[in-house]
Amino acid sequence: MKNEHDVVIAGGGLNGPALGLALVNAGLNVAVVDAAPERARSAGNFDGRAYALALSSVRLLQGIGIWQELAGQSQPITKVVARQGRQGDIGPFGLFFDGAEIEEGLLGHMLEDRFLYRALLAAMQERLSFLPGTKVIAQQADPGGINVSLSDGRVLRARLLVGADGRRSGVAERAGIDRTGWDYGQTALVAALDQSNSHDGTAHQIFLPTGPLAVLPLPGKRSSVVWSLTRSRAETIAALDDADFLSVLSPHLSDIFGDISLAGPRFSYPLSLTLANSYVAERVALIGDAAHGVHPIAGQGLNLGLRDVAALAESIVDAMRNGEDIGFATTLDRYQGWRRFDATTLALGMDSVNRLFSNESRLLASVRGMGMGAINAVPPLRRRFMRQAAGLSIDPMPRLLSGRPL
Ligand SMILES: Cc1cc2nc3c(=O)[nH]c(=O)nc-3n(C[C@H](O)[C@H](O)[C@H](O)COP(=O)(O)OP(=O)(O)OC[C@H]3O[C@@H](n4cnc5c(N)ncnc54)[C@H](O)[C@@H]3O)c2cc1C
Repeated sequence: MKNEHDVVIAGGGLNGPALGLALVNAGLNVAVVDAAPERARSAGNFDGRAYALALSSVRLLQGIGIWQELAGQSQPITKVVARQGRQGDIGPFGLFFDGAEIEEGLLGHMLEDRFLYRALLAAMQERLSFLPGTKVIAQQADPGGINVSLSDGRVLRARLLVGADGRRSGVAERAGIDRTGWDYGQTALVAALDQSNSHDGTAHQIFLPTGPLAVLPLPGKRSSVVWSLTRSRAETIAALDDADFLSVLSPHLSDIFGDISLAGPRFSYPLSLTLANSYVAERVALIGDAAHGVHPIAGQGLNLGLRDVAALAESIVDAMRNGEDIGFATTLDRYQGWRRFDATTLALGMDSVNRLFSNESRLLASVRGMGMGAINAVPPLRRRFMRQAAGLSIDPMPRLLSGRPL
């Protein structure tokens, strides 16, 4: 006897649970299967990981019913400052985005992973069938549905299997979906800082010749640092003790932050680009990093994934309401047409920005500086960039991202 579901989701990271909750709220029967044990990320200690959520992503979290408890734990991003500089020399030409210039009044929210994951976990435990510590190990599609085999011997039957199983998606591999991508030769060092000066809700992106350094505001006098460096340099800096790490980092921050100290452990993430060559296969759809693993340069990885969640949820729910089979190619093609071009364009855009800025050329530095200065000098252009960063210019905008019910 097989367990019957409308949708089985492989992957209980962030995008899988968000999709699961959107679908159960619309009346579907959903199971989320996650290889990681339930407690791995829910211990609740501050671990330095945090996300810059676009306003449209926040609307989705409101729509699936978890933002209410998260709002008080988030930090509104009111301004973004992007500029380039060498050590101790932050250039004069930069981009200055102020949320007050758009009607929403802010540009996004910073939220720590521990709060977001815990809220998703609690909601999953209450509302859907969540199977932690279990792997999807095989899948077999047929005209009527798909059988999903689990590591504990169970077989789940569904109309659709969603791969939300990250950059090395087994769901994609088993469905015969190839990937395109490359290694950036860079590693991101991630940490949280306590600082003596207030950050005022300002997010900083500092383009250093060695790679981009993002310093993003967290509640209180605390910031999250994502520092992308060439791999060998990152390894050298990661091996330093905390005091030496801070003495290497602080000259890049000039005096904006005052005295700084580490607020938690440091992490290293090797950076690569990986794009699935298709987001769909027979009775299979991919979302999040399983579909597109991107450079963290503009903090857009999760935001892109949540756009997939909104578009796929809407495609599935509309098909269900029209009496169609939710796992049919027409539903899946609609989803892929909605998302693949947008995600690929953004992934390659971030790739180009990283290449353009992560080098030592002084000539390129002055061209880049003039480019940023020129955008900054034209208010309508500046506002267009702001709306894009806040995820407000997606066309067509899925209902969940525009604050409408699914
Ligand atoms: C340094 C860094 C900084 C970042 N900063 C930002 C930011 O500021 N803003 C932003 O929007 N994004 C950011 N991102 C990107 C963001 O972290 C990712 O896009 C996001 O976490 C991807 O979530 P996911 O659910 O798609 O995949 P994952 O989080 O990778 O989850 C995949 C899940 O699948 C499970 N799994 C794997 N195989 C199986 C299997 N066979 N069966 C069942 N389950 C399986 C795993 O256990 C895991 O839980 C950053 C990324 C990095 C590296």
